[in-house]
Amino acid sequence: MQLASTFGRDSVLNLLASPKGLRSHYASVVTEEIVGQEVSVCGWVASVREHGEHLTFIDLRDATGIVQCVISERIELHPEWVVRVVGRVAKRPLGTENLALASGQVEISDARLEVLSIANAVPFSVSDQKDLPDESVRLRYRFVDLRRARLQRNIRTRAQINKAIRRSLESFGFLEIETPMLWTPTPEGAREFSVPSRLQPGNFYVLPQSPQIAKQLLMVSGFDRYYQIARCMRDEDLRSDRQFEFTQLDLEASFITQEDIRDFVTRAVSEATEAATGLSDLDFPVITYREAISRYGSDKPDIRFGHEIFELSDLFLGSGIRALDQPSVGAFIAPAGEGFSRSKLDQLVDRAKTLGAAGLLWLRVKQGPDGTFEVDSPIAKFLKAEQIATIISRLGAKAGDVVLAVSGEFALTRSVLGTLRVELAKANLRLEGLRYLWVIDFPMFEDLDEEGNPIAAHHPFTMPNIDDFELMASDPLAVRAQSYDLVLNGWELGSGSIRIHDPKVQSEVFTALGISDEVANQRFGFLLDAFGFGAPPHGGFAFGIDRLAALLCGEDTIREVIAFPKTQSGLDLMTGAPKQISKETLSSYGLTLRESPKKS
Ligand code: ASP
Repeated sequence: MQLASTFGRDSVLNLLASPKGLRSHYASVVTEEIVGQEVSVCGWVASVREHGEHLTFIDLRDATGIVQCVISERIELHPEWVVRVVGRVAKRPLGTENLALASGQVEISDARLEVLSIANAVPFSVSDQKDLPDESVRLRYRFVDLRRARLQRNIRTRAQINKAIRRSLESFGFLEIETPMLWTPTPEGAREFSVPSRLQPGNFYVLPQSPQIAKQLLMVSGFDRYYQIARCMRDEDLRSDRQFEFTQLDLEASFITQEDIRDFVTRAVSEATEAATGLSDLDFPVITYREAISRYGSDKPDIRFGHEIFELSDLFLGSGIRALDQPSVGAFIAPAGEGFSRSKLDQLVDRAKTLGAAGLLWLRVKQGPDGTFEVDSPIAKFLKAEQIATIISRLGAKAGDVVLAVSGEFALTRSVLGTLRVELAKANLRLEGLRYLWVIDFPMFEDLDEEGNPIAAHHPFTMPNIDDFELMASDPLAVRAQSYDLVLNGWELGSGSIRIHDPKVQSEVFTALGISDEVANQRFGFLLDAFGFGAPPHGGFAFGIDRLAALLCGEDTIREVIAFPKTQSGLDLMTGAPKQISKETLSSYGLTLRESPKKS
């Protein structure tokens, strides 16, 4: 991967137009066009090769790429020393060109070298992309790790993504407004980071989980269209690929519909995608939550592959076949790659059971001698020819396919098959490309808590679908929200909603959620108060830039697109944070520790 591919020629030319400092040229513009010219370049020694008694070759690396320099003497030099080289640009001798470099046709010959700074032996090679040490070593020496071409590319690509998002939103009149970092609890419901106040001992600020309330207040204030590339903090266990702090593109707009919001986000994400990958004109299909669950068994379907789930329960209603006469029978053609052995099918049955299914039925499709389809399956003898024919035509199966089916309640068949669908595809298919998808009409509430109160699926400021409003008290789980998620390759990139702007509706939703007036006032009183002073209808969205950047850079973890990430246990291996603080500092906050601090 070439550094110059993201540090494009335009950026280099911009750099050259700016004050040049100690150099006349950046490495990647030392090319055939300036053969004969004297240049000065500055950077790090990427490699040193001594040739005979009187010749030293160095590859000099700067922010834009690498240029070869030839010095007519033997000098002491080591990788990662910082140098300035002055010399004349010459064509490389025939056969020694390096096509991988922008400057690969030339070298700086007769070079004079000034050492600007020497370096200790680095803990791992900056140029070696394959033989990397354990990630903990890379994080401990992140400043060295970041010199590697891949991370340089990632961090620069991320900046391009931010720039494209800003450009897109600003073209629609969105205004970038910063909201406070020292804030008060927000409604996303994750555990928060608390910051003690020195001037008000015993009182705490909260680091924002999102600018949710602040951006809604900005709508009440008449800013109409707001955005921010916002840092958000959630003190959650870092089980998966998460960080305590993450970056969201956060936006909010007034007097709009959810289609408008989706359109703004689609355009911004499209521009970001094109800036990062060159891909344009991608589709952003829209499906409902209900359809997503039914067809993919997931509210964040990966649509890079088909293998959709079909409902078959109608074929077995009243059939008396216990395993199939169930409220739901979901089935899909397994992404099987080369096909499945019997023992692989047995493993799949076990996997389905660990996922909560009573069992997993499999049907291997065969073509009989007369051209009709047959199935090989433990339940084959219970199936009628018409049932087999309908299954095969409904799923579009062909000879050699293996159909997997799970029966039971609808939610169970979909969750089990949805998981198997993704697991099998990851194991057996080549998943490539970028497939965005909007999922809309999420349920307002995801479940009931122990006291029977519904639990908000998004946050409590989400507007219910007006058509479902009457169900709020009688059948809350059937109420749809005016909310929408953006999904990319099976990852939820972000979510948003039309908000409640009427204090009366808001208080009904709080009541449905079991949040008393007292608690609502104590937590969000200032927002409810603001809604009493003329609130416009509004809505918004937020999506994770870390995740988007990782997917666009083709990285598996977001740590690869964050300059200074923490480990999975929240440690910063470079700075040693979190660290203990002195008794004096603690006491200035009016705090004492009950237990002696643990070493992190
Ligand atoms: N604040 C929400 C979140 O962070 C997104 C939104 O509704 O705008 O999930």
